[in-house]
Amino acid sequence: MNTLLKDKNILIMGVANKWSIAWGIAEEFNKAGANLAFTYQGERSLANIEKLTKDMKKVKIIECDVTQDEDIKNAFDELKEDFDVLHGVVHCIAHAKKEELAGKYMDTSREGYHMAQDISAYSLVVVTKYAKELMVEGGSIVTLSYLGAERAIKNYNVMGVAKAALEASTRYLAADLGKENIRVNAISAGPVKTLAAKGVSDFSKLMKEFEERVPLGRIVDAREVGGTAVFLCSNLSSGITGEVIHVDGGFSIVG
Ligand code: NAD
Repeated sequence: MNTLLKDKNILIMGVANKWSIAWGIAEEFNKAGANLAFTYQGERSLANIEKLTKDMKKVKIIECDVTQDEDIKNAFDELKEDFDVLHGVVHCIAHAKKEELAGKYMDTSREGYHMAQDISAYSLVVVTKYAKELMVEGGSIVTLSYLGAERAIKNYNVMGVAKAALEASTRYLAADLGKENIRVNAISAGPVKTLAAKGVSDFSKLMKEFEERVPLGRIVDAREVGGTAVFLCSNLSSGITGEVIHVDGGFSIVG
């Protein structure tokens, strides 16, 4: 337990189940004393979040499909009923069709490209727009990226291109909102076995190769990503915005 985020109101978007990186992040935010709210997509995620948070102090859980502008607007309207001010948002949302996460990138369909960009990159833009209205004391927005934004990683394909757009959006949003003391940063996490990761063809092979070469010699877990997210939403990181911080055991530094 620490007090880094005591009395801070934080929205966490993207818990699907206990393996979600967003859940590892939520646990660290809870330990840091934050008041938490969650958005979810789908009834199964709702049931999982209700179960996972049953021992936490009161949390608000709101449905939000980020492909629908109206849903995002309604989610923030509902959030306002409990939080008159918002201090942080953690955006842990991505999706691409399974068939786009295998084979050659050049075979990406137009529809698959648009879907990956819409859910995984554009959603941060709309979420930031609504979050800003509630961040009247300044704030911090954190999103999750992956090395596939910087390098051509086998099978990651259209999601790598969406992550590149997400990282660029992080910089543009940071430039838009800096004067309002709202910071926007991304964490580029190492591979973690989650529902979304299972969609990437040969993900187990990718994990094995990672473990063989990563400087720390082990997989990084969701709570370690959570620790960095706590840092990015706390005053300890008050001078950082528009950054992409690797939480990947050092994998990005090896060739
Ligand atoms: P996950 O499957 O647990 O989480 C993905 C979330 O996205 C789910 O909660 C899902 O409901 C949500 N989502 C998908 N479409 C949505 C929509 N239309 N509206 C609202 N929510 C929607 O998987 P995860 O790996 O924890 O993914 C979280 C984030 O971390 C993603 O951005 C992912 O790209 C990123 N990431 C994952 C890894 C990894 O190896 N798992 C590595 C680096 C970055």
